Amino acid sequence: MFFDEVSGYYDRLENTSSRLSMVDILSELMSHAKSGEIRSLIYITQGMLAPPFEGMQIGIAEKFAESAIATASGFSKEDVVSSFRKTGDLGLTAQEMIRKGKLRPLSKHHFEVNYVLESMRKIAGTSGTGSQDAKIRILVELLASSTPLEARYLIRFALGKLRLGAGDATILEALSKSYTGSRDAKADLENAYNICSDLGKVGEVLSEKGMPGIKSLKVSLFEPIRPALAERLPTAEQILEKMKGKCAVESKYDGLRAQVHIDRKKGRVHIFSRNLENLTEMFPDIAKAALSEVSASNAILEGEAISYDEATGEFRPFQETIQRKRKHGVEEKSQEMPVHLFAFDLMYYDEEDYLGKPYEERRKKLESIIKGNELIRLSDRIIATTPKQMDKYFEEAVENGLEGIVAKDLNAPYVAGARKFSWIKLKRSYKGELSDTIDMVILGYYRGKGQRTEFGMGGLLAGVYNEKKDVFETLSKIGTGFSEKQMQDFSDLLKRSRLARKPPRVEAIIAPDFWVEPEYVITVKADEITRSPMHTCGKEGPEEPGYALRFPRLVSDGVRKDKKAEDATTTKEILEMFGQQKKVKVDH
Ligand code: ATP
Repeated sequence: MFFDEVSGYYDRLENTSSRLSMVDILSELMSHAKSGEIRSLIYITQGMLAPPFEGMQIGIAEKFAESAIATASGFSKEDVVSSFRKTGDLGLTAQEMIRKGKLRPLSKHHFEVNYVLESMRKIAGTSGTGSQDAKIRILVELLASSTPLEARYLIRFALGKLRLGAGDATILEALSKSYTGSRDAKADLENAYNICSDLGKVGEVLSEKGMPGIKSLKVSLFEPIRPALAERLPTAEQILEKMKGKCAVESKYDGLRAQVHIDRKKGRVHIFSRNLENLTEMFPDIAKAALSEVSASNAILEGEAISYDEATGEFRPFQETIQRKRKHGVEEKSQEMPVHLFAFDLMYYDEEDYLGKPYEERRKKLESIIKGNELIRLSDRIIATTPKQMDKYFEEAVENGLEGIVAKDLNAPYVAGARKFSWIKLKRSYKGELSDTIDMVILGYYRGKGQRTEFGMGGLLAGVYNEKKDVFETLSKIGTGFSEKQMQDFSDLLKRSRLARKPPRVEAIIAPDFWVEPEYVITVKADEITRSPMHTCGKEGPEEPGYALRFPRLVSDGVRKDKKAEDATTTKEILEMFGQQKKVKVDH
């Protein structure tokens, strides 16, 4: 499939305003992929070179893209820069320059999707002296034989700014429609995706082995599993009732989630974050311990890495653990702030997929293979049969500086990539506040009035993710909780994400001064969830009000690096929290 054709579809995607037509356009595009092309097509459509856990970064610097456009079109660098100043988008500049090009195309060579991906990977993989020239040369070669429209998308892709707005669920639905003729296979595809976290692989298995291949997909070492998530309930009584009178109760450590893949024979360990980034290099201590403290030929286990003071037995706050997430000075920091891994689950052991086994069986095996007790330990837990036991354990956990508890259904399988009642969290909360913080996606921002005009950002419009509809719905404006520096940082960051109009997957009644690509997540605290005609969160019909936050304030330090837009709190969770809030009020 030629990239020329792909670009035509991308142009159509950019001009659509509805999510459903995005799915239609994408599925039509996918149906044109030849054998062996769907993987590349999916990665490019995601704006990526490979699945995120491989950490292959695209994103050449603007000034190099400008040089490439100038060389390929025959215009001067100044011409390119001056066009860029007008368009604000190097993709559009490339399109215009190639269209007006002073040079005749070097060749009439059409290139295919696999070739585009290969070339971009070459650009990303070139390093060392002279690498910039080599990168530019590859880009020039592509641009010189591309059509103007291809040039637009090639440049955006190379800059890491393709931004077609198609989320994972949209791509899965399009795959389902394209290969099975209906959207119904989406659930099976989602399961497969939850196991391997690689949309390209899901597409490839589907195209080569059909639905039987998808249904029999198994866990593989070094391909992260999408994490199981916890539901929430406000009291121990309700948790026990839901768990039918008996469950495990574990401490909820407030650190960084780590999924550890271990192959002892090869001496190989990978550590993945909640967001499926590869964190191995940031935790050399845990990686080393994984080989000596876990007795298994190979295993995938999960735990919370948390900064912990061995001498006092004190758990350090999240802000401290997060400092270990760094590229430089890793060794020094690991001495200064040692982390421990509190393991709480086992998904794979000695070639065997453990996802389908009951929690208690996974836990027993986990207990039997963690032998070191140095850096890798078991999460603390009890088995509770009365609310009193659970409350007592909760109080102790909070006293020890932990976040609360996670109750676990003894018989439940590991439900990858889903928030289910097999895990239920209970966090400490304060009077007059919602019992949990809310992770919101930034959908737009306001210029700001008075003093705030100088920062270029006076407040955010933020929302949550409606999983069922695969759209983002607005929940609140947020204008409180920012320091001056944060306002400046948000302004700088969001300026680069600005969109000319509302993205198709955002549903809103009110409009901010600027829409942005839904890609950044912030954590917000609020006093209460209320009904509101202004917001689309949970809005069922034109006459029905939606939901909103009372006194929302920013509590994260800027944007969360460990969550992407679809990892934000969901509409369903907001509705549940609203219901629980009423219940708690009646109870007291
Ligand atoms: P939060 O911000 O509350 O951690 P979240 O959306 O990241 O929310 P949840 O599914 O709500 O995740 O809560 C589970 C999280 O709690 C896990 O992602 C994990 O990082 C953390 N955690 C800490 N201790 C445990 C434990 N013993 N069992 C499971 N998860 C735990």
